[in-house]
Amino acid sequence: MTASLRDHFPIFAALAPPFHYLDNAATGQICRPAAEALWHFETRSRANVKRGVYRLADEATSAFQNARRQVAAYIGAADPDEVIFTSGCTLAINTAAHALSPRLRPSDEILISELEHHSNIVPWQMAAERTGARVRAIPVTEEGRLAHDRLGEVVTERTRIIAVGHASNVTGAVADTGALRDAADSVGALLLLDGAQRAPHGPLDVGTLGCDLYAFSAHKMFGPTGAGALWVRKDLLAELPPFLGGGEMIRRVEIERSTYAPPPHRFEAGTPPIGPVIGMGAAAEWLATLDWQALGREEIRLTERLLGGLGGMAKVRVLGPLGTQARLGVVSFAVDGVHPHDVCQMLDGFGVCLRGGHHCAQPLMDRFDLVATARASIALYNDDADIDALLAGLDATIRRLA
Ligand code: PMP
Repeated sequence: MTASLRDHFPIFAALAPPFHYLDNAATGQICRPAAEALWHFETRSRANVKRGVYRLADEATSAFQNARRQVAAYIGAADPDEVIFTSGCTLAINTAAHALSPRLRPSDEILISELEHHSNIVPWQMAAERTGARVRAIPVTEEGRLAHDRLGEVVTERTRIIAVGHASNVTGAVADTGALRDAADSVGALLLLDGAQRAPHGPLDVGTLGCDLYAFSAHKMFGPTGAGALWVRKDLLAELPPFLGGGEMIRRVEIERSTYAPPPHRFEAGTPPIGPVIGMGAAAEWLATLDWQALGREEIRLTERLLGGLGGMAKVRVLGPLGTQARLGVVSFAVDGVHPHDVCQMLDGFGVCLRGGHHCAQPLMDRFDLVATARASIALYNDDADIDALLAGLDATIRRLA
C-alpha cells in the first residue's frame, strides 16, 4: 500500500534515495491532487475571488468556495460557512483568541495545558493581557499526556475557554476530547481544539468531538503551505466580531465606521491565500477517499517498530507514551550526552529527516527538565525502511558521539 501511496507524492520521485522523511509533524509532503489543484489555479484560472463578474473570476471564486465544501466535509462541519480560511493554524488560533476576547472579563480564566504548541499559548496570553483574564494550564502526566484526572482542579467557575491540542506535536498523545467537553460543559466554557497534528490522520467529525472551535493547517495535511482553517460552531460564529479589518470582510465602509459581512467572509480580510486554499480542499477530498482503518493500523505498526527500536537503546529516553494507545506516530526522544541538533545532523547523513529542538513547546520542555529533543513523526507514506534507517543511523550516532 505504501508504495502506491507514495506515487501520490511527487517528491518521492523527484529526490534521489536515500530519502527518509520523518518530519511530518512540522510539514507533510504535498500530495499530487493538492499540487495539481494549486498549479491549475495559478496557471489556468487565476483571478481574485469574491468580487469579479467576468468568467475567470467566477471560476476562481467557485474553486475557492468548493474548497470550503471539501474542507468542511473532511471535518464533518454541518455547514461549509462555518469554515474560515486563514494562512495556517497559528492565524486560526489568533483569530479565535481575538474574536473571543470581548467575552473575557478580568479574573476570567483561559485554560490551556503544559503540552501546548506556542501557537496555542501566546495568542491566549495576549488575550489575557488585553482583558485582564488569566491563563492557567492543565498539568501533564509523566507519560506526556494531559492529566485528564486533574481537570477538576484546574477548571473553575471562572473558566471561560479551554484551548488544548487535539494531539501533541511532541509526545504524540491524543487528548480525551470527551473529558474536555464534559469539563467545559460543567462550567459553561467554550472548547477550542488545536487540530494541527490530528488533521493529517484522517477525516474528523467536529460534532462528535464536541468542540466549539477547531484549528488546523493545510501544510501538515499534505496540502500547500500558506493556508489553514478555523471551524467555529455556527451559532457561536454568528456572534463573533471580526479580527482583521480590510477588503472583502465588510458590508459598508464609511469614513468613521463600517459594518461587516456575514461569516465566514467577516473573518477573511484581504485577498486570501487562494491557490493554497484550493490545494487544501483537494488534499482534504483526496484524504477522505483513503482507507483510514488500514492506514491507522499501519501507523500503529510503524510506531511500535520505532518505539521498540528506541526502547532497546540504552542511552535513549522517549518523551511520551511508550504504548500506541491514544497516540499518533510522533515520537520525541533524548540521547544521553548528545544534543538533539547533533543527532539530527548525523541522521541527515543517512538520508533521515528528523527535527531537533524545543518544537515550539518550551513549557513542556520545562516540565520534563529538557531543553530540546529529537523527534520523528510518521505519515501515511512512511514504511519499515524509514524506521529502520532511523534506528540504524541513531545506533551509529550513539556509537560515535555518546
Ligand atoms: N499547533 C500545533 C500542535 C502544531 O504542531 C503547529 C505546527 N507545528 C501549530 C499549532 C502551528 O501551525 P502553523 O505553523 O502551521 O501555523
